[in-house]
Amino acid sequence: MYDVVVIGSGAAGMMSAITAARDKKRVLLLEKMTALGLKLKATGGGKCNITNRLNKEDFINSFDKQGRFMRDALSLFDSQDLVDFLNDIGLSTHALDGFRVFPLTHDSKSVLDVLSMEMVRLAVEVKCKQDVQNIDKVEDLFFIKTGTDTFKTKNVVIATGGLGYSSLGSTGDGYKFATSFGHSIKDLHPAMLPLHVAEKWVKNCRADTIAKATLKIDIPKMKKYHMRGDLIFTQKGIRGPVVLDFATYITPLLKIYDMVPLLVNLTKGMNEEEVRNFLKENHKIEPNQSVLELLAKLLPKSVSQELCNLAQVERDKRYSEIKAVKKDKLIKLLAWTPLNVVGHDGFDKAMITKGGVKLKEIDPKTMQSRLVKGLYFCGEVVDLDGPCGGYNLQWSFSSGYLAGCMLD
Ligand SMILES: Cc1cc2nc3c(=O)[nH]c(=O)nc-3n(C[C@H](O)[C@H](O)[C@H](O)COP(=O)(O)OP(=O)(O)OC[C@H]3O[C@@H](n4cnc5c(N)ncnc54)[C@H](O)[C@@H]3O)c2cc1C
Repeated sequence: MYDVVVIGSGAAGMMSAITAARDKKRVLLLEKMTALGLKLKATGGGKCNITNRLNKEDFINSFDKQGRFMRDALSLFDSQDLVDFLNDIGLSTHALDGFRVFPLTHDSKSVLDVLSMEMVRLAVEVKCKQDVQNIDKVEDLFFIKTGTDTFKTKNVVIATGGLGYSSLGSTGDGYKFATSFGHSIKDLHPAMLPLHVAEKWVKNCRADTIAKATLKIDIPKMKKYHMRGDLIFTQKGIRGPVVLDFATYITPLLKIYDMVPLLVNLTKGMNEEEVRNFLKENHKIEPNQSVLELLAKLLPKSVSQELCNLAQVERDKRYSEIKAVKKDKLIKLLAWTPLNVVGHDGFDKAMITKGGVKLKEIDPKTMQSRLVKGLYFCGEVVDLDGPCGGYNLQWSFSSGYLAGCMLD
């Protein structure tokens, strides 16, 4: 008989187990994989971008309007609290770029190690290879059934993550448990993943990075969605930080449309007039340069070549030799290059799941279900997804902390 059984050993589950155990609760942590925190270990390319230095309000605003739900959790345990907590249990951190916080070791395993050691110190019972299959509630007690055992507890914390990178353990079981207790799930979509585009030319530019690219959706009423950041071309489409973040808007649209048209600015935000002036002025300085040499000041060679092909511009000619109509076409393409998104790699390559247990059915002051007493949710299983940069782990830690504190 436990005070609480936590299901899932990600950032959210381990944090709630630690907080509950510090509060003298008898805690059991169940994990279906053979080892703890596999996804945590994979974060930040193995370096683990734990959190960032944004203040609470800016952090909240980075999550769309849903972000308001996090206010209580962040008031109790924000990024500075997380940094202090990790420091107290033996992990130093730093923010080399002044924004993103990483362990000083540059190794996500060290985050996992200190959390595991703290659970040992607090006598949290940890059982791996325990795949929870269903949860029943009889009067005030929950019965948690795995393939081999049944555990009895007063409280349950569901910290089973989303659907992304299922090889690391999260296969959406939390949604199944939630619905079995009458909860509703906001539509689930893969987020934070590369996108495939219809344009075949991108493969000739693969691995080329465009700094400060702007993406916007070319659908009336959706033009307000735009983002800026680094973009990288791939064999099938586009990736890079700005694409990962923008994917949260695109994947739901791909359920409605076969193709999502984007306009991409590859010239650091220059508009048509600025591009035209730039080319004119630079051509004046070096009039014998070819168009390709001129464009090298703006773009990687492979991209310049492809845009010249699209505009039917003879790239080896001088800029002054190009017909006005072709010049206009090239300038338009340099200001806004059209790309049509036709797909993505699905949940297998999604770092985040958009959607989840509906927020209105969870009390943000406690993370307890509004429908079932003693049932708590934290981390990615909840309908919140943030951008790249430590936002999602911070949410997992903050919500895990809040749930762990608020148990009966
Ligand atoms: C490759 C990658 C890199 C990322 N990098 C970053 C980053 O640098 N910074 C950042 O902020 N975010 C990052 N994220 C996102 C971040 O990892 C997640 O948002 C966060 O880890 C979610 O934590 P969680 O505790 O809610 O769930 P998870 O970490 O997914 O943990 C859920 C756990 O529950 C277990 N489980 C599931 N079902 C059951 C069951 N039925 N029985 C028992 N156990 C079960 C799973 O095995 C898993 O261990 C990254 C994600 C990926 C995939």
